[in-house]
Amino acid sequence: MPVTAYDLTGRTAFVTGAASGIGRASAVLLAEAGATVHCADLDAPGLHETATRIKGSGGTAHTHHLDVTDREQLRRAVADCERLDVMAAIAGIMHSSPVLETRDEDLDRVWGVNFKGVLYACQEAARLMIADGTRGSIVTMASGAVDTGGPGLLCYGVAKAAVVQLTKTLATEVGPHGIRVNAVAPGWIRTPMTDRHDDAAQSRTEAFMARLSPLDRIGEPDEIAHAVLHLASDASSFTTGQILRPNGGVAMP
Ligand code: NAD
Repeated sequence: MPVTAYDLTGRTAFVTGAASGIGRASAVLLAEAGATVHCADLDAPGLHETATRIKGSGGTAHTHHLDVTDREQLRRAVADCERLDVMAAIAGIMHSSPVLETRDEDLDRVWGVNFKGVLYACQEAARLMIADGTRGSIVTMASGAVDTGGPGLLCYGVAKAAVVQLTKTLATEVGPHGIRVNAVAPGWIRTPMTDRHDDAAQSRTEAFMARLSPLDRIGEPDEIAHAVLHLASDASSFTTGQILRPNGGVAMP
């Protein structure tokens, strides 16, 4: 397969969570690969910054200021795309609380963004791809937390485990239409989500997470964006229902 399998010229991608971190890096990289990118997020200034970066490099970007927990907003934004080849459902939030202190509202909030937001994006994308006969690619964002668990990770981990189940289930259902569905499950990545807002705490956390990896470091958003590009492009044309783990080789239990 030629290296041009990564070329997305003429394709359209929709990226949720595109205002920051992994979502921004993915939107920028998909645009560099030639895709027209629809960037969606709650954070309007962050969205503007991502679109400015894409346009500054000669790419094409559209922005959608929306909340992924609102199905109707997502439906309208996806319908706005003339065609859709790639959905990257990346928007997510972190929440940490011990099981015994977890409140219903914590569960509902994290479930709403980290599972329902991904479900709605997948549903809207798959419906449009099927209607148009597009043999597209859907990429979801899980987490290494699914494999490792960890103190405080109940709400977050439950939602990410559900994303894995959604990914595998949807892959079996839309495969006959030529649509592929895969998840990325990153390890610890330096983004605003993992920012401890305190230099000493940041160094301690990063050193701890780095020691779990044989590479002895944490990851960067661009490294996850390359996993998204791989799954979004024809380079992964025979890959579906899979979980790609760019996690620096952290040993799984
Ligand atoms: P981030 O905080 O930098 O970016 C998350 C983005 O999602 C933000 O722009 C935020 O505004 C957006 N968002 C949050 N709620 C939203 C909503 N309701 N509607 C629309 N947009 C919303 O975080 P990140 O680290 O880039 O995380 C991106 C994804 O990767 C998340 O799903 C996260 O769980 C996952 N992930 C991150 C790491 C890590 O170490 N950073 C590891 C594994 C998985």
